[in-house]
Amino acid sequence: MQPKYYGDFGGSFVPESLVQPLTEIEQAFADIKACADFQAEYENLLTQYAGRATPLTFAKNLSRILGRKIFLKREDLLHGGAHKTNNTIGQGLLAKRMGKKRIIAETGAGQHGVATAMIGALLGLPVEIYMGRVDVERQASNVKRMQLFGAKVHGVDSGSATLKDAINEAMRDWIANVEDTFYVFGSTVGPHPFPALVRYFQEIIGKEAREQILQQANVLPDAVFACVNGGSNAIGIFSRFIDDEKVQLFGAEAAGQGLSTDYHAATLEKGEQGVFHGMRSLFLQSASGQIEETHSICAGLDYPGVGPEHAYLQASKRATYLGVTDQEAVNAYRLLAEREGILAALESCHAVALALREAEKFPAQANLVVNLSGRGDKDLQNYFSHVENC
Ligand SMILES: *Cc1c(COP(=O)(O)O)cnc(C)c1O
Repeated sequence: MQPKYYGDFGGSFVPESLVQPLTEIEQAFADIKACADFQAEYENLLTQYAGRATPLTFAKNLSRILGRKIFLKREDLLHGGAHKTNNTIGQGLLAKRMGKKRIIAETGAGQHGVATAMIGALLGLPVEIYMGRVDVERQASNVKRMQLFGAKVHGVDSGSATLKDAINEAMRDWIANVEDTFYVFGSTVGPHPFPALVRYFQEIIGKEAREQILQQANVLPDAVFACVNGGSNAIGIFSRFIDDEKVQLFGAEAAGQGLSTDYHAATLEKGEQGVFHGMRSLFLQSASGQIEETHSICAGLDYPGVGPEHAYLQASKRATYLGVTDQEAVNAYRLLAEREGILAALESCHAVALALREAEKFPAQANLVVNLSGRGDKDLQNYFSHVENC
């Protein structure tokens, strides 16, 4: 296997015992791309189970306010409430095809854990989820969802008992049980071929969005906006526009409270090169090179690094990544609710907020596409406690 690099980023940094299993996954990935049966099964589940295609909604009230045309790609309407379902369906089917008997995953906020548990129930595969003990307590309702779908949730007590520790435990389990176990990665991260595999299953967002904007606006958009944590929803929607140099690509990173001293956010802006989770990429690190935790109002933007392709798109200047504060995201949450009747996930509201901030730099009536990665009912409590504390 020649691990794929995106410029200086990516690769495969794993113990010897994972080299062969990763090569097998790479081979299986190549096979499914060419396999009509697999494609038919995947597409059938995306449409009949998950509810694709998702609409591209012209946000007419926001557009009137901004004097620019805003289109929202509605992954919030996907079954499961976010784009994550595209990926877990794909990897679940791949695991079955490879004859694996068990799937594992790690989760921070719990959303990837829920999406994996859901697919385990659907496909009849036992699921075990690793989750930091702190997150188990913070995200109790997602733990209940996973359990209802039949998954076993392991609370991880080591280290800071959060996502990075859950990642370490999941890697350990995988190394010990790699014969019969498939590790479902939650974003475009990890050792090759996972960043490419997860991208592949999220490209459907970009494929649909491109067809839909051409149909509705008759032109390619001036810009596409998405929030970035590991980067899967962003790379999914970017994928079909990257080759069109005229389409500007914007990634919105969580910048927490936006204090200049706030080191714990905005990986692309402030992260440094390192190796973690099997890949070379940008990570938030302490002075001694330890992986740091992120802090954002939004538990779903908690991955301490970023996918290698985004690190590369930034280095090559094809895409622009900017920090968005908690307050800006909360404002966007309210604006979308009040003006469009849509509750979008706070993660997605980072992308909306960035589009609101950048809009005036585009000519009047420019076409701007924003990916709404997920729905926002889960953030109601969070929204109201933020508003009360201000
Ligand atoms: C998980 C999640 C994200 C962040 O993940 P990416 O891999 O960066 O897309 C963003 N939005 C929602 C709604 C999520 O659930």
